Amino acid sequence: MKTPITVAEGDGIGPEIMQATLLILEAAGAQLELHPVQIGEQMYLKGFPTGMDPRTWETIRNTKAFLKAPITTPQGGGFKSLNVTIRTTLGLYANVRPCISYFPFVDTKHPDMDVVVVRENEEDLYAGIEYRQTPHVCQSLKLISREGSEKIVRYAFEYARHHGRKKVTLFMKDNIMKFSDGLFHTVFDEVAKEYDDILNDHWIVDIGAAKLADTPEIFDVLVMPNLYGDILSDVAAQIAGSVGLAGSANVGDHGAMFEAIHGSAPRRAGQNLANPSGLLLGAVQMLVHIGQPDAAQTVHNAWLRTLEEGVHTYDIYKEGVSREKVGTKEFAKAVASNLGKQPESLKPVTYKRYPPTPQVPLSVAPFEDRRLVGIDVFIYHKPPLELFFSRISHIAIGSLALKMITNRGVRVWPEGQPETFCIEQWRCRFMGKEGTAVSQNDLIQVLHAFDHINMDVIKSEHLYQFAGKPGYSSAEG
Ligand code: NAD
Repeated sequence: MKTPITVAEGDGIGPEIMQATLLILEAAGAQLELHPVQIGEQMYLKGFPTGMDPRTWETIRNTKAFLKAPITTPQGGGFKSLNVTIRTTLGLYANVRPCISYFPFVDTKHPDMDVVVVRENEEDLYAGIEYRQTPHVCQSLKLISREGSEKIVRYAFEYARHHGRKKVTLFMKDNIMKFSDGLFHTVFDEVAKEYDDILNDHWIVDIGAAKLADTPEIFDVLVMPNLYGDILSDVAAQIAGSVGLAGSANVGDHGAMFEAIHGSAPRRAGQNLANPSGLLLGAVQMLVHIGQPDAAQTVHNAWLRTLEEGVHTYDIYKEGVSREKVGTKEFAKAVASNLGKQPESLKPVTYKRYPPTPQVPLSVAPFEDRRLVGIDVFIYHKPPLELFFSRISHIAIGSLALKMITNRGVRVWPEGQPETFCIEQWRCRFMGKEGTAVSQNDLIQVLHAFDHINMDVIKSEHLYQFAGKPGYSSAEG
């Protein structure tokens, strides 16, 4: 029985590394029924803003998996990231990126590195909710949900359990982003308690990243929100040996997409230079995912054997370590000729049939009393504050009155400091007396009052208390 998969050759080096990958998969006896689709630069230029004809969704939906070579996003505005669109539209919430050293056959400062980065794939700043609010101020929204956090954290622990890994480490920055990263951390702690067979720890992402770059061998599975995961999985792949060596799986409840972590490297395109290993290892993840672990194991071990033999593409070629510098096609032929062989020095891999991604019902968070207590009104006005303060300071609706004005999160009233540098976006906080509940209508009246005096409101944010605790940051952090 062949498994239907969607295949896209992509742009730049994409077609070369895809052909190399498919040659190896076919030689290994992978049972695949290929459904080619066209995505990427040509489709953007034909006028599809997401880089793909909407009819392609049907092909992707009807196949179990999507093997995708990198694409080029044309320069200029108006183009949506195809990768982000596919990941979010199909709900591919888990991005799994193994970053492993192949020392001494691939040069690295970290011979014992064996880290899997599990990156949240749908939320965070990648939700793409961005605004230009004033001529000089833009805003991107960092969105973190309990459900999104629980799905990825649970996936990381299940992955660790099924792949014989010992520890899951969280990277986040909840000392600064107390609500968004704080929620991710809370959910991590809750879920970690359910996996007493797996160790867990957590690091603030800045020092965690420094440790990862310095002593990656202390980490096993890493789980983190989208942006940190995007950056640090590239770093992890590069310090393991090369970004050209890492594959990536994007897994959801209804499908999965497999790719290399690198881009389309246009400067290397059409020269038979590119290393197809990242896409090939992405394809190995795909074979495991679609229940063909034997083919996955055969391909992966043949690839390890080829690395050991010193048959290397330019990006990992090193005088004294490598034996032969080869092009994309020759590398693929070398891997194909090693099918059935095991590596002799590197540890051979073994794959088995893993249970599908667990569809554990999400936990039900305890009910918390939620109360509307105020509004932050963001306005566009050139500094300084004195130019408009007297116009808004008297606004009072019901029990709502002006409590604070901040600029870039720093309190400038009351008790502002003269040194604070201000820009043209101001946050004016109105709250009821001592946190008393206010009505939606009161908030609308506040906005009316701003309109009445011709103040330029660019957005507003409602303020809630949850079980009596503020659900909004204060200017004091
Ligand atoms: P890139 O990863 O394409 O290339 C950076 C450099 O890394 C290349 O110049 C090359 O020296 C090296 N490199 C990358 N892959 C290699 C391989 N397989 N073999 C040998 N060397 C390799 O990053 P970039 O130049 O910043 O981006 C180029 C294009 O790729 C952009 O349009 C970007 O939007 C796109 N991109 C696509 C994806 C994707 O489709 N998944 C991911 C990242 C970037």
